[in-house]
This record gives sequence, structure tokens and C-alpha cells, in this order.
Amino acid sequence: MARLPQTDAELTALVRSVSTETFHRPFTHQALYNRRLRTTGGRYRLRDHNIEINPHLLQYYGLPELLGVIKHELCHYHLHLLHGGYQHKDADFKKLLAATGGSRFAPPMPPREDRTVNYLYICPQCQAKYPRQRRIDTRRFVCGRCHHRLELVGLDVKMSQISA
Ligand SMILES: [Zn+2]
Ligand SMILES: [Zn+2]
Repeated sequence: MARLPQTDAELTALVRSVSTETFHRPFTHQALYNRRLRTTGGRYRLRDHNIEINPHLLQYYGLPELLGVIKHELCHYHLHLLHGGYQHKDADFKKLLAATGGSRFAPPMPPREDRTVNYLYICPQCQAKYPRQRRIDTRRFVCGRCHHRLELVGLDVKMSQISA
């Protein structure tokens, strides 16, 4: 299945097939996109057993990342319904996650390359780049590589524009 699910119904169908194929148990609840999720890729709702997925996953990533998040949420789901240890710290959860190939961490959202840094400093001697969210005191903070003074060269720079 190469096409990414666009609607909640398509998403639910995908979660059902992953559940059957990978967990050999049915997913009998709903999966839905939730635009309000910010940094997490997904969420399992204890009270109604539904799974929420961050739609930004589709915007920034592809099917492998989506499947990783779905498997992660299905680990919570199945263990919770089976009265197993369904939390991140539980051995049951860690074991099932490893066995099914679920992602341990949500992919960063927005991805690193899409982030904007407030200040970009450069070392004029060795060209090392120092992207920073906060202003730094260039009289005190010097280049970690060559100890030269840094120069402020950009404001509000996208990470994708900063070549390594
Ligand atoms: Zn989780
Ligand atoms: Zn330097």
C-alpha cells in the first residue's frame, strides 16, 4: 500500500490491517487525525480506545514513519485491552514494541530541516556554523574548534538553508 491514508476512514482501515498482520489481533476502534497534536506522532486514548495520528506526519514524512507510529500506538492499545503493562516504562510495552518494530520516539515535528533558528553565527576563521535560538555574547563565547570570535551572519534562518 503506497498511498497514504487521507481520511479517518482510510486511516482506520490502515490501522486495522497493520493490527491484523503484525499483532494478529483485530483493531476494533477508530483511528483519527488530530491536527492539534504538535510534537507527538500519535496518541492512544485510554478512555475510548481510539488512536489519534498527527497529520503533520504525512506532510513531512512518509509511510515508514506513519507505520512506525501506528505500531507504537497499537502496542499501547493491545496491551491496555489485555491488561498488560501498556505504559512506556513497562517491560511488556518495551518487548512488544521491539517485536513489532514500532517507533520508540516520534519523528521530530517539524523536522530539523524545517526549523527556523533565530540567530546564525559563523566562525570567520574555520567557517564552523552555530545556529542558536538565543543571542549569544560573542565577546565571551568563542568558536569551539579554533577559539576565534564568532560573527552574527543571519536572523530567522531555516535549518535547510544551513549546509553542514
Ligand atoms: Zn506512546
Ligand atoms: Zn573556528
